[in-house]
Amino acid sequence: FEKLKNGLKNTKDALASKITGVINSFTKIDEDFFEELEETLILSDIGAVTSANICEALRKEVKATGTTDPAEVKGLLKKIIAGILEGENELILDTKPTVILVIGVNGAGKTTTIGKLAYNLKSSGKKVVVAAADTFRAAAIEQLEVWTQRAGVDIIKHSEGSDPAAVVFDAVKAGIARDADVIICDTAGRLHNKKNLMDELKKIARIVNNNAPDSRVETLLVLDATTGQNAVNQARLFKETADITGIVLTKLDGTAKGGIIIPIKEELGIPVKLVGVGEKIDDLQPFVPRDYVEALFE
Ligand code: GDP
Repeated sequence: FEKLKNGLKNTKDALASKITGVINSFTKIDEDFFEELEETLILSDIGAVTSANICEALRKEVKATGTTDPAEVKGLLKKIIAGILEGENELILDTKPTVILVIGVNGAGKTTTIGKLAYNLKSSGKKVVVAAADTFRAAAIEQLEVWTQRAGVDIIKHSEGSDPAAVVFDAVKAGIARDADVIICDTAGRLHNKKNLMDELKKIARIVNNNAPDSRVETLLVLDATTGQNAVNQARLFKETADITGIVLTKLDGTAKGGIIIPIKEELGIPVKLVGVGEKIDDLQPFVPRDYVEALFE
């Protein structure tokens, strides 16, 4: 929690402290208050739609409770935000193996996240195999290998330019042979060619289905929190291409734009499952809505 709290410091200054300021500056909870609150939310990367929804929900709560006490209004707002963020926030690992496909644009933190996730899962006693199915760049395979060595897990790789589906095929075979709990697949999750990505993901899903028919597939989209509203737009585009089951929001540490977690869930309905709070191997955390809200508004 301390790491999350420290990581969210700038977001706290940019979002929560401003909201608290607005709440404390009004003696009456009237339309002027809601207008200023909405404007503050919009200016803090929450987006127009989500900001309006939050204010509408707060209007109802304030009316229902009849409160004018700033501390209570803040409490209601925290509850509303936590409510938005709640969903299927946990990774579901109830099949053996579970296959986790990781997609996202270059630089978002895909490789780092896979390394951290492999480490976390291994530390919790899971056997993990990583598939280097982003075969587009040799550097991607090498980097991933460094991370799997750090995490102490197996990697299945082919040479650069080879068929990603063939790598996944080998990884699934190896995973089953080695009694793996989780197979994490790096993919060339590029957006500039939507049809290619869609075809590639379909092909990978087919391979998984044919070779491990009972396994659940989680598709995680890695987004860089520092890109703010752009990350929300990216998620919207990826959603048209893939059945995303969860978001990993990276680089939450240091950015002031950590509020975008709220519109991502509210507008796209995709739960955030993991957050990156640093560059080290133990800097990936499960996302707990209540902790996030507490860290922001404490
Ligand atoms: P990829 O191109 O998507 O595979 O991105 P990488 O995993 O190579 O990450 C790109 C850069 O972001 C690297 O310098 C990482 O150290 C950095 N990075 C990834 N996740 C985090 C995070 O949670 N916090 C911080 N501060 N940096 C991160």
